[in-house]
Amino acid sequence: PPGAHVPALVIGTGYGGSVAALRLAQAGVDVHMLEMGMAWDTPGSDGKIFANTRTPDYRSYWLRTKTKQPLSNFLGFPLDKDVPKYTGILDAEDFSGITVYQGRGVGGGSLVNGGMAVTPPRPRFSAILPSVNVDEMYNTYYPRANAGLGVTNVDQAWWNSVDCYQYARVGRKHAERSNFPFVFVSNVYDWEYMRQEVAGTVPKSAVDGELLYGNNHGKKTLQKTYLAQAKATGRVAISPLHRVTSVAPANGRYAVVVEQLDTSGNVTATKTVTADKVFFAAGSIGTSKLLTKLKATNVLPGLNSEIGKGWGDNGNVMCGRANHLWDPTGAVQASIPTAGIDNWDAGGAFAEVAPLPTGIETWASFYLSITKNPNRAQFTWNSTANRVDLSWQTAWKQPSIDMAKSIFDKINAKEGTIYRTDLFGVYKIWGDHLTYHPLGGAVLNKATDNYGRLHGYSGLYVIDGALIPGNTAVNPFVTITALAERNIERIIAADF
Ligand code: FAD
Repeated sequence: PPGAHVPALVIGTGYGGSVAALRLAQAGVDVHMLEMGMAWDTPGSDGKIFANTRTPDYRSYWLRTKTKQPLSNFLGFPLDKDVPKYTGILDAEDFSGITVYQGRGVGGGSLVNGGMAVTPPRPRFSAILPSVNVDEMYNTYYPRANAGLGVTNVDQAWWNSVDCYQYARVGRKHAERSNFPFVFVSNVYDWEYMRQEVAGTVPKSAVDGELLYGNNHGKKTLQKTYLAQAKATGRVAISPLHRVTSVAPANGRYAVVVEQLDTSGNVTATKTVTADKVFFAAGSIGTSKLLTKLKATNVLPGLNSEIGKGWGDNGNVMCGRANHLWDPTGAVQASIPTAGIDNWDAGGAFAEVAPLPTGIETWASFYLSITKNPNRAQFTWNSTANRVDLSWQTAWKQPSIDMAKSIFDKINAKEGTIYRTDLFGVYKIWGDHLTYHPLGGAVLNKATDNYGRLHGYSGLYVIDGALIPGNTAVNPFVTITALAERNIERIIAADF
C-alpha cells in the first residue's frame, strides 16, 4: 500500500531479483518485489497462460501494436502482424542501433528464454569477471546456482533417437565434419516431461514449439524454482504491473516511486513506499536506465561516473544455412536447444544450434552465435526527449559476424551449402539488429564495490545482469544467478 515501509525492496523479478528475495527471506528479512510485467498465472480465453511461438497474439509483446519477431521473414515474406496493445511477455525494446529482447513479468527473462543453462568453461571466467575469485565461483556459487535453477542434462541416447532433435543431429554432423568441437549444453527443461510429450501422453509444449512467448508446461522458470521457494517462506510479497520510476534518499531510508499499470500500459496510480534497502534487479537495461536517469536528474547525484558504462550485447548474432534436399532438419523441432559449436578459443564464437520450430520442413539450420565482440556502449540521459539513450551502433556487430563466419564459412565450404538470405528480410544473411543477452551498465567493482553495493549510497545494490561487463562467453543466466548468490551471501552477512 502507498506509504508503506519495507526492510528490503527488490525492483524486478528476474534471476538477480529472485536470488536476492529468496536468500533475504531465508535470513529472516521481509521482502517486497515490484515487477512491471504481469503475474502470468491466469489462463487466457484459449485455456492457456502463454501463446505459441507460431501464433503470437495479444499476450506476446510488451505494449506494441505489431509483433516484432526476431526472425522477421520467411522465404522473403514478412511475418509480423497487428496485435492489440497489451502488457505482453516479450519486450522488443528499440534503441537507435539495436533491439534488445527481454522478458516482462514475474520471472523476468526465465519466462521467454531457451533455458540453456551454461556454466562458462573455467579458463574463460577471469575475462568475464576479473575481480571475482574463480575458486569460490566454481566450488560454491555456480553449483549453488545450478541446483537452485534445476539444471540437468539431456539423455544422449534418447536425444539420438527422437525426431524432434533431428535438427540438432544435423548440426552435430556438420560441426564434426568441419572438425569443430560440438558440445552438449545443460538446460532447465524437465526432460521427463519432454519424453512424455514425444510419447503423446501429456500436452505438448517444447515439442509443439512453445518458447518465445512462454512455455505452458515443461520449462522450469523462476516461477517454479527460486520464486516458488521465496513465496513459501511467507516473507516475500510480489506486486506485478508495478513499475519503479524513482528511488530517492529520504531520512536515512529510500523513497521509491511506483506506477501501477493496467494491461494496456496506462498508469492507474502512482504510489510512494519507503525501504531501508533497495536492490536494483530490473535487468541490464532496466537497472541501467533507472540509474542513468536518477544520476543525471540529480535524484542520486552521488552515483559515480561508471553508471551507464560497459554495456555489451554478449556478441549475439544470428544466421541460417540452407541444407541440401537430402539433409532435412525435420518438421517437428523441440524448441529447447541442447547443444552448441564451440570455436571460442580459435575464432571467438560459440554457436547455439537453435531450432526453427515452424512446424514444416525448412531445410534450414539455424544458429544463435555468442561472440567475443569487443564493442561496449554507454547509456546517457536525453533530457529533451525525456528518455535514456544507448550509444550502440548497428555497424558494431561486424566483429560478431566475422567471428560467426569462422564457423559457418568453413561448414558451408565443406558441405557445399550457402547461407539463408530470407530469414531477416529480403536478401539479408545476418540477424545483426538484435540481442537476447544485454549485459552491463552498472559494472561490478566499477559502478559498485566488488559485491554490488552502489558507490555513493549505503543500502542501494545492483544484483542483476547490469553487473557483468558486456560478455559471458556463453549464455548468461547461470552466471547472473551465481554472481547474485555470491553477492547476496556477503551482503546478508555484513549489511543486515
Ligand atoms: P531479467 O531476467 O531481465 O529481469 C528483470 C525484470 O525486471 C523483468 O521482469 C522486468 O520486467 C523487470 N523490470 C524492468 N524494469 C523495471 C522497473 N522499472 N520496475 C519494475 N520492474 C522492472 N540466457 C541464457 O542463459 N540461456 C538462454 O537459453 C537464453 N535464451 C534467451 C532467449 C530470449 C528470447 C531472451 C530474450 C533471453 C534469453 N536469455 C538466455 C537471456 C536471459 O534470459 C537474461 O540474461 C536474464 O533473464 C537476465 O537476468 P536479469 O536478472 O539480469 O534480468
